Amino acid sequence: MSDNICWVVDLEATNEDASAWAQKGLQWLVQQGLAESIPDSGGALSGADLYRPGPKAAAWSKYIADDLQLCGVEVTVERTVFHTGSNSDQIRCPHCGANHELDAVPWSEAVERWHSDEADDTLACPTCAHSASIVDWTFLEFDWAFGNLGFGFNNWMIDARLATELGNVLGHRTKVVYEHI
Ligand SMILES: [Zn+2]
Repeated sequence: MSDNICWVVDLEATNEDASAWAQKGLQWLVQQGLAESIPDSGGALSGADLYRPGPKAAAWSKYIADDLQLCGVEVTVERTVFHTGSNSDQIRCPHCGANHELDAVPWSEAVERWHSDEADDTLACPTCAHSASIVDWTFLEFDWAFGNLGFGFNNWMIDARLATELGNVLGHRTKVVYEHI
């Protein structure tokens, strides 16, 4: 059986305040009955603590794994490239909308510069010659996200409204990324 993680990524939390936002998001998930308050230590696919689905979780979800050993929400608080796990083929320029084969542009260097928190994390477009931060490019066909905080729903396909409401609680822009493991 393959595993999946549905990430709700906070695009605006900083390194400094990500922990506080993580607590706020978790608190909301627990208050809504979406997650248990005490995690299983190391129970997530990544080895992180795993908060099991709460009593109201099914009403906010499309799918929850039957095997609860593998199901729950983990929280990542560090600078992270939230990627899909499967191969993206193309990347789209935010300026002109041109799609480029990944092989044709030095995208991974830009990702590494972002991850290292370097000042220049841009990628130049061969079509329009404009540069943009790698975070503003779109990976096709399933997009990636770059952030300091992510809520990872392990084998748990949440409804769009859960992601939307969680974003409202955080008061930040968020992006959903589907990681296939
Ligand atoms: Zn372009």
